[in-house]
Amino acid sequence: MHWGLIGASRIAAGHMIAALRAQSGWKVTSVLSSDSARGAVFAQDNDIASSFTDLDALLAQSDVDAVYISTTNEKHHAQALAAIAAGKHVLCEKPLAMTLEEAVEMVQAARDKRVIFATNHHLRNAGSHLAIRDLIRSGRIGTVLSARVFHAVSLPEQLRGWRIDNPAAGGGVIPDIAVHDADTVRFHLGEDPVEVVAQSAASGLGRGVEDSVMSVWKMPSGVMVQAHESFTHRFAATGIEFHGTDGSIYARNVMTQQPVGEVWVEDAQGRHEVTFDTHDLYVRSMSLMDDAIRGEGRPSADGMDGVKSLAVALAIKAAADSGAAVRVDYGGV
Ligand code: NDP
Repeated sequence: MHWGLIGASRIAAGHMIAALRAQSGWKVTSVLSSDSARGAVFAQDNDIASSFTDLDALLAQSDVDAVYISTTNEKHHAQALAAIAAGKHVLCEKPLAMTLEEAVEMVQAARDKRVIFATNHHLRNAGSHLAIRDLIRSGRIGTVLSARVFHAVSLPEQLRGWRIDNPAAGGGVIPDIAVHDADTVRFHLGEDPVEVVAQSAASGLGRGVEDSVMSVWKMPSGVMVQAHESFTHRFAATGIEFHGTDGSIYARNVMTQQPVGEVWVEDAQGRHEVTFDTHDLYVRSMSLMDDAIRGEGRPSADGMDGVKSLAVALAIKAAADSGAAVRVDYGGV
């Protein structure tokens, strides 16, 4: 399997190239950048044979079977449609697109073309989150009553570009982080939020975009979900909690790209530590992508998961902007 990178991005260099190369027989053959000099440097730094500035030229290469799209968010839609039309499998970064209609179109196009389409939601691959989901599914905490997500961080200096000042490129903490939390909660509870209320703020970094948001989601089962995402919290730990009739699951430092953190259950007998695997999140995700391409399963997060996480994020944005409760529109899918 030969991969082309669409986007000379930090996430590609920092995590995904290694995760792609960790799969048996997978090679990264080319990269697309809008800037030929940056693309050439990126290719050289990452030991990639070819760099392109023209998407069609990259897609025309016989040694590109699949593409990983990690450009800024407003570019995902057109680039994914072009790759799908060229018959390539697609791994696309979150959020899939700027609008729900675009995201649905991407997933539908992949279905029609019979190529695999996956969304790069990494958290559901973490050993910590897999352990949490198993605890919930096995009934360890009884009937789940509520969930709390703590995902307020300090945005690293090197990421303080389009994320904090460019709404047209998909900046803001809601498309950046809330979309991951939507996927993670859906993964754990196995159901999709129906309605949200929210408030957002610019609390130090955001210029023309929100850098902080708090929201409350109504789930079909009645579980209440509370989520907090921010770019401006220097000393806040991340975490997720699920509270049930028979116990509570606590997890700290688990809303991260690293295979770290702490998980424990509190119940009538006290505190019980939970052990979990510490594999690389992105390597596991690409292993499932490999299976899916070979017709032996589904990606960790598929296109519909990307549509649904975007739908929740868009509802949070609309609720924060309007001050009203907003029903989540999944576009009829
Ligand atoms: P970057 O800012 O690193 O890259 C985005 C684009 O910016 C690149 O495609 C590149 O354009 C351009 N660019 C990169 N470096 C420079 C530079 N030094 N000067 C000018 N332009 C530059 O974005 P991220 O890697 O942080 O994010 C990319 C995508 O991945 C987003 O959709 C984001 O939401 C997602 N993401 C997902 C994560 C996950 O864990 N799933 C984690 C982080 C990001 P060009 O290609 O034209 O050269």
